[in-house]
Amino acid sequence: MDNCIFCKIVNKEIPAKTIYEDKDIISFLDISQATKGHCLVVLKKHFDDITSTDDEKLAKAILIAKKIAIRQLKTLDGIIGVNIINNTLEGAGQTIMHTHIHIIPRYKDDKLVIGFPNNFGKNSDEELDILVKKLKI
Ligand code: 5GP
Ligand code: ZN
Repeated sequence: MDNCIFCKIVNKEIPAKTIYEDKDIISFLDISQATKGHCLVVLKKHFDDITSTDDEKLAKAILIAKKIAIRQLKTLDGIIGVNIINNTLEGAGQTIMHTHIHIIPRYKDDKLVIGFPNNFGKNSDEELDILVKKLKI
């Protein structure tokens, strides 16, 4: 895809600090380290976002993400957990429209905020049933 930064990295037109590569996937350090060791898993083929991504390749990507998380947990000093995140569409924070997964090591007092509000009990049973009807697949 013209003008896609990740396609340019895949095609070696711009450099990246690569930690893994095979015929379908490349993984490298995020240029902006949310925490030390923040990695991206990127599909070599361009798909705009996860919803249009080939199933088999996506499955492969999540398995590589798992391997990287295991590696981070083994090798990074002070690591206490890992967030594995995908942002889908701009409304959810996706800035590069080429499918990728973030693997973000967590450290005590790392100041990174990834959280959910505690909304337990705030939805009626009826509301939840309507959601189940809408979302059942
Ligand atoms: P998104 O916001 O789309 O979920 O994540 C895109 C990520 O790509 C951001 O965390 C951003 O720092 C990273 N990024 C943007 N441009 C580059 C680049 O040229 N090289 C690398 N390694 N990462 C990039
Ligand atoms: Zn691309």
